[in-house]
Amino acid sequence: MTYYITTPIYYVNAEPHIGHAYSTVVADALAWFHRLQGTETRFQTGTDEHGEKILDAARDAGLPVKEFVDRISAQFRRNWDAMGITYDSYVRTTSPEHGKVVQEILAQVYASGDIYFGEYGGFYCYGCEAFYLERDLVEGRCPDHKVEPTFIKEENYFFRMSKYQDWLIDYIETHPDWIRPERYKNEVLAFLREPLEDLCISRPRERMGWGIPLPFDDRFVTYVWFDALINYLSGLGYPDAPEFARFWPGAQHLIAKDILKPHGIYWPTMLKGMGLEPFQHLNVHGYWQMAQGKMSKSLGNVVDPGSLVGRYGLDQVRYFFLREMVFGLDAQFSEAALTTRINADLANDLGNLFARSLGMAFKYRQGIVPAPGTSEPMDQEIVAAAGHAAAEFLQHFPALEFGRALAPLWEFIGRLNRYIVASAPWELAKRPEAASRLDTVLYHLLEGLRQIAALLRPVMPGSALKMSQQLGLGPALWDRPLPQVLQWGRLRPGSSLNKGPALFPRIEND
Ligand SMILES: [Zn+2]
Repeated sequence: MTYYITTPIYYVNAEPHIGHAYSTVVADALAWFHRLQGTETRFQTGTDEHGEKILDAARDAGLPVKEFVDRISAQFRRNWDAMGITYDSYVRTTSPEHGKVVQEILAQVYASGDIYFGEYGGFYCYGCEAFYLERDLVEGRCPDHKVEPTFIKEENYFFRMSKYQDWLIDYIETHPDWIRPERYKNEVLAFLREPLEDLCISRPRERMGWGIPLPFDDRFVTYVWFDALINYLSGLGYPDAPEFARFWPGAQHLIAKDILKPHGIYWPTMLKGMGLEPFQHLNVHGYWQMAQGKMSKSLGNVVDPGSLVGRYGLDQVRYFFLREMVFGLDAQFSEAALTTRINADLANDLGNLFARSLGMAFKYRQGIVPAPGTSEPMDQEIVAAAGHAAAEFLQHFPALEFGRALAPLWEFIGRLNRYIVASAPWELAKRPEAASRLDTVLYHLLEGLRQIAALLRPVMPGSALKMSQQLGLGPALWDRPLPQVLQWGRLRPGSSLNKGPALFPRIEND
């Protein structure tokens, strides 16, 4: 089985912010994890560049629309490159390759009879670029934008989404973790309790011309969602490229909850209409909420991912994202919470453990990994605890339960710190007859750190590599699938350690 993870393609009407960075980091961490597991992995991101809001934003910026989308798309890409994001493909919906795939799909679905021409009158929200039913309005206003929609009556093309309503309900009910976490599955099922309308998939060119022309009627362009969702296929070279056949069966989408409806309803019914199998999972996350009230002057800047990373460090931000937010729920973002995570979890717990252990190995054993002697119960407990932490991590990480993956690893880090106190290597070092005991303790510390470095690579790729370099292993630590890497005792006695700078400097409060 392959693994194909996608971020949403980001809408280029505004610059990247912390929410985009979170989605992208989560996808990157998952891609890392699956590659380290030995699974053939593909990771795709990109930008969504059509639609009315983009025309408006270009007009506001005083730029021709193509120039505007080129500029913002490049800004997203630069951001991800600066953050070391390991995407394999970057789709732009204004590319000729993508446009061609959208037109081919439209032609195919039109030929199959699932697209028809009709007249439609409805409440249109310009902010959402979507029609609303009267019952979906809140006191006559768009539930998102709180503005009164405009009643528009016009001729358009429609996708027979209603035809697939029963199939979709049945599919969701027979695949209970298809949309996860569960709250979002329930939300989609709640939408589906009402009769599903057909989806208006065109916009008249005279009203809104910034889109992909319909192949069967060029008076119209494609509705932005019908266009955008197809990026998940066009980026694989659908229909003919071998990547499509190889990776589509392993497809998982990652989105924020604001785009649940297009991904949970439009997209699976579109795939059904094309005769394709659904994706494996739709993974839905919540929002970062900015802490209200006391905001430092810098907070305005730091929600821009570039300055956040510049100020706190890339791996520090990645760790915070994965550790602090329960995937699927909203979380509070504040610099105080970020600083606490960095100082407590990274500088104190992990950083000190690492520095102390290597420091003692240099002080007492000249930086050479000693061979362990006879194991005592306290050493056997360390081996068992490492196995437990690894098993929890390997189980929860791919299920996007990042807190449940990381918490046991930090319990293990805490246990190693207590092991140092309990075994007191500085006392052992005073007694020549305790030399073998000291070897055993140092070996358990170093091998425990090797296990931690191995597991942290998807979370903090740069720091995990630095740990591995100081342990004398470098990238070779990950030269086989993770479960084999994690067999206890792979750290070779007699090998050399390397000195290096502190992993995680403390953040001092202003
Ligand atoms: Zn709206």
